[in-house]
Amino acid sequence: MLALGVFPAFGGSRAAPIRLYIHFQQDPPDAVLESIQEELSDIMVPAGMEFEWRSLSKTLGNEVSVELAVIHFKGTCNAADLSPTEGYPGPLGWTHMSDGEILPFSDINCDGIRLFLQRDLLRVPEPNRAALYGHAIARVLAHELYHILAKTTKHGAWGVGKPAYSVQELLSNKFHFDKKQCDLLRAHQAHMASMSGVTGQ
Ligand SMILES: [Zn+2]
Repeated sequence: MLALGVFPAFGGSRAAPIRLYIHFQQDPPDAVLESIQEELSDIMVPAGMEFEWRSLSKTLGNEVSVELAVIHFKGTCNAADLSPTEGYPGPLGWTHMSDGEILPFSDINCDGIRLFLQRDLLRVPEPNRAALYGHAIARVLAHELYHILAKTTKHGAWGVGKPAYSVQELLSNKFHFDKKQCDLLRAHQAHMASMSGVTGQ
């Protein structure tokens, strides 16, 4: 009876939400965090994926999840105090690997994304900057989650699965996965849903 009761949400063909354990080096303003969460969900809905956000520091260590990813947001994740200078931002995000295996650990370079976008962010009205910056972070995060969840180091030619982004893409109204990457994520979700259906314990 207990085994039946443990994973009631996994019935049918729907996979459980993917748990994101997050850690911010510096706490972001609410406006940025909300914008990241909204945009990530917007990008991932066509792939059939839902996420649960948990703080890594508040994790009890006894939580079990079918699927999870640990995300470290590095640097200052806010859109205040921007300057019009340009600089080389380096990689905007990366996912850890070991012996050729993709690990569910990603770093998001908030400072790099800020540096990359700041000149253009300064041209938009101040009240809109946090949301735009949050969207850009979500796009980089979605890219790293794609590597983890589709279990691939390969990139797409278009959309969020591209190996590099322009400032315009990060700040555009809509920037989503190409159909091919979306299908890969969907296939993975369907596989996870069928696995959790059989396990049941
Ligand atoms: Zn990549």
